[in-house]
Amino acid sequence: MSSRGGLTYSCFGGARSRQSPRWPGSPAARSPMQSAPSATGPSRTVTVRPQPKWVAANIRSETVPILGSVTCHSVMLPQLRAALTEISQRGLAAEIDPNDYGGCYVPRFIGHDPSRGLSLHTWGIAIDLNVSTNQRGIPGEIDRDVVAIFKKWGFAWGGDWEWTDPMHFELAALIR
Ligand SMILES: [Zn+2]
Repeated sequence: MSSRGGLTYSCFGGARSRQSPRWPGSPAARSPMQSAPSATGPSRTVTVRPQPKWVAANIRSETVPILGSVTCHSVMLPQLRAALTEISQRGLAAEIDPNDYGGCYVPRFIGHDPSRGLSLHTWGIAIDLNVSTNQRGIPGEIDRDVVAIFKKWGFAWGGDWEWTDPMHFELAALIR
């Protein structure tokens, strides 16, 4: 679970059957499962702690439209900014609630279960929006024009998964 502003959410952030995005120099391409994050602690409180050196080299906090300050992988930030800019320009900013933002860089296992692999949030390449009305297993209320704009900017949407995760958008392609 993660908490932000007192809000608890349960996005699990991925399914093992899907392939992770890959790009030159990406953490995924360098098998970070072994090299970057590491699991510690007893089984019921397992946490993921990426190596500080990797975090310093890849994770950035920047201000973006609608959401304000976000902390994500540097590779994702330009596309996130582009998507949110377009959403604003098309008059859809009110469809994303900055107070219902679930985070981007949040190191964790999928469902906090080590057997299910690492969530893409561990690499800061996924973001959760409008958490309270877009929980797992439901169609979700997030505006479908917002979804379409995210897809245009290279994001895959969790609402398309068999077990839906409509709050979740993850980097699936690099738009250059
Ligand atoms: Zn997510």
